[in-house]
Amino acid sequence: MVVDTAAPAAQARETLSFSESVDRNFAKAAALLDYPRGLLEQIRVCNKVYYVQFPVRIRGEIQVIQGWRAEHSHHRLPCKGGIRYAETVGQDEIMALAALMTYKCAIVNVPFGGAKGGIKINPRNYTEEELERITRRYTVELIQKNFIGPSLDVPAPDYGTGPREMAWIADTYMAFRPDDINALACVTGKPVEQGGVRGRTEATGLGIYFGIREALSLPELVRPLGLEPGLEGKRVIVQGFGNVGYHAARFLQQEGGAIITAVIEWDGAVYNPDGIDVEELARHRRETGSILYYPKAQTIPMEERDTVLEYDCDILLPAALESQIHYHNAPRIRAKIIAEGANGPTTAAAEEILLQRGIFILPDIFLNAGGVVVSYFEWLKNIAHVRLGRLEKRFEERTNQRLVEMVERLTGKTLTTPERQLLLRGPDEVDLVRSGLEDTMISAFHELWEIHKTRKGVQDLRTAAFVCAIDKIATAYFQLGIFP
Ligand code: GLU
Repeated sequence: MVVDTAAPAAQARETLSFSESVDRNFAKAAALLDYPRGLLEQIRVCNKVYYVQFPVRIRGEIQVIQGWRAEHSHHRLPCKGGIRYAETVGQDEIMALAALMTYKCAIVNVPFGGAKGGIKINPRNYTEEELERITRRYTVELIQKNFIGPSLDVPAPDYGTGPREMAWIADTYMAFRPDDINALACVTGKPVEQGGVRGRTEATGLGIYFGIREALSLPELVRPLGLEPGLEGKRVIVQGFGNVGYHAARFLQQEGGAIITAVIEWDGAVYNPDGIDVEELARHRRETGSILYYPKAQTIPMEERDTVLEYDCDILLPAALESQIHYHNAPRIRAKIIAEGANGPTTAAAEEILLQRGIFILPDIFLNAGGVVVSYFEWLKNIAHVRLGRLEKRFEERTNQRLVEMVERLTGKTLTTPERQLLLRGPDEVDLVRSGLEDTMISAFHELWEIHKTRKGVQDLRTAAFVCAIDKIATAYFQLGIFP
């Protein structure tokens, strides 16, 4: 019944493109704010887009490859955002994703503008050497147009790319800019041996875990959904078992005690209502090349994989591509919470239906910000030319030691060796990265929740997130003196 009343308006809106869908979310928040129209327009629009077609020799033939880089906002520099490799890549998508990066960075206080890049290829169709040629050539195109640089625009991994591609980008950039002492900071998500930071690979997944854990700890949020506070025992369906989905599922299971009942991939899905061991499933995929036919779960074939999104669960975690929850399946989604690991997984039309049905959405621009948060730490490490923790580690260990000795003296008790080791240890790079990420995600969640609770007209967490982002970007423009 509820769905029927939502349907006509929502159906009309399903025709929105991805960037129009982002704009609609922006407009919903902007309508609640009292800023000059021109300022809101400047925040909304995409500042620069570069479209390039370049030739690459593939198995004796010349192939013309299409690539994009969009810089959505320059209110803070550099611009920041991943590069994706997928056959579905197109200009509207890249512009939408660049806009999401602007809002995402603002929400988690990463002082960057938003950007996104993409190459329209299916990386599975190319050898490693061919992918290297494509990546290096694309990088050269970006260098020539000033669309990359430590103080201009800093790419990172996204769908279909990872540390390997980032290492090729860094190497190409450094070859062209040998006199730039900060050249390594031209890209993040690099392998640790090539200037990366420990903890970047799992950062998005870990951030998602922190975000969900914090949201679920609030009785006032979960009780109206018919859930008890806490992650323990919550049933989770994960779509996408790539870098984001795999790590998020792993932390939700291992740290949070959640039950992963289904995992959906491009070639099918696996389902077990009693839970799937995430590490074991990953091992099965390493050995066989697919999650399918994992022996301790039921395999659902490719043609039916999307129906798994509609299975009963507490949390649905889309962690693949955009527009996965749309007008047609939204009425059938049985999750109580949608945790957006991917960028833009819920269409505007779907959102309307889901909200009417009382489903709670943890929005992408907050929930998957862990990647860019740790990218920011990597960039800081690169421009500071020092490993995080290098200066303070020993000092902290010595301070801890003095404290332990004092407690032992005062109490007359002696700690066991494991106890002593636990207390004395100073932070390693990965400890600092993870605690910085945890703090960021927890504070951001409470900031959004506060906006949701207290600001007039803010009825969902996505609108709260946009209000938060617009406020911060407007403040940045005021500081720049561009707007009165
Ligand atoms: N591609 C990731 C995202 O969509 C990370 C971007 C970054 O680290 O710059 O948030």
